[in-house]
Amino acid sequence: MTNIQMVDLRGQYHHIKAEIDKAIIDVVESSAFINGPAVKQFAENLAKYLNVKHVIPCANGTDALQIALMALGLEPGDEVITPSFSYIAAAETIAILRLKPVFIDSDLDTFNLNLDSLKKAITPKTKAIIPVHLFGQVCDMKPILEISEQYGIPVIEDTAQAIGADYTFPDGKKKKAGTMGDIGTTSFFPSKNLGCYGDGGAIFTNDDTLAEKLRMIANHGSKVRYYHEIVGMNSRLDSIQAAILDVKLKYLDQYIQARRNAAEQYNTLLKEVSDVITPYQAPYSYHVFHQYTLRLKKENNHEVQKRMAEKNIPTMIYYPVVGHKQNMFSSHHDVHLPVAEQLQKEVLSLPMHTELTTDSIKYIVDNLKTAL
Ligand SMILES: *Cc1c(COP(=O)(O)O)cnc(C)c1O
Repeated sequence: MTNIQMVDLRGQYHHIKAEIDKAIIDVVESSAFINGPAVKQFAENLAKYLNVKHVIPCANGTDALQIALMALGLEPGDEVITPSFSYIAAAETIAILRLKPVFIDSDLDTFNLNLDSLKKAITPKTKAIIPVHLFGQVCDMKPILEISEQYGIPVIEDTAQAIGADYTFPDGKKKKAGTMGDIGTTSFFPSKNLGCYGDGGAIFTNDDTLAEKLRMIANHGSKVRYYHEIVGMNSRLDSIQAAILDVKLKYLDQYIQARRNAAEQYNTLLKEVSDVITPYQAPYSYHVFHQYTLRLKKENNHEVQKRMAEKNIPTMIYYPVVGHKQNMFSSHHDVHLPVAEQLQKEVLSLPMHTELTTDSIKYIVDNLKTAL
């Protein structure tokens, strides 16, 4: 077995090559490279898919978070709560706007933010909460939304890893990740579940006023060209990427199913392997398996990664350093978040993509058993 990849974008492309190639060439022929009809069409189709009122495309998932924070009109020093065990983008955009990131702990089983830690972190200066739907699993949104309502604190859902995932409320009602808080953000980085062939991102909201502000901020604070109401930025999804995404959106549910099938096969093969904890699937979350992330009970994750690499099997450690221990946040180094700090030492993500075969999954698991 050769050439196992963490993600296989080329294989995925080859299944839909004719459609993708045509979409790209159509944009080139139209020469409407910026804000062309493809961008509007994709935004409309994504809004329909998510059942959300507004989709505002932008340049990447990090910009999406920054634009969302800017739209809330916060003051320097205001506190924004986000989990430490996560990708850096949320904390970084908080800091770049001179707001104060307040790192909270996570749950060992879901990898998502811990509710008690969230409640304890709230102060009169808390002005936003950014839950992250990590690895494709939706956070338990109902209690988060209740806290948001109780304290009047807006919620920005970072949905970069969970586009298409459903949350089921206790009454059985379902909503898509990213459409429950005040604002949702996502990334179309190539390896995400809905990825383009470059950089891309989007912001979601059901709030008309926020939508208008988000749109302006992404466009130099402008509604009418060359008239600038507020300080914004330049953050656009280009037409070629939108055209590619519009093709891939049709296959998103199929891609999610392929990921879930792969996860199911991993789960079955790993059931008997002691010292490995397979991903927990919370009953309220339809997991879309952006990552298939194990916890290693005894072994060092970096060691196991090295042993797998010797067999040419790529694995990833998401994330080796939690937010509050990053050098960029040296003033937070005395914060202690036991679960986040435990997870960074235990997690190991196995190859996960839409093109994984049963044979390669078996091969990966066999080698993992040896590596343990
Ligand atoms: C990928 C990712 C981002 C950032 O997206 P970019 O498009 O790379 O800027 C933000 N948050 C999370 C959780 C991510 O996984």
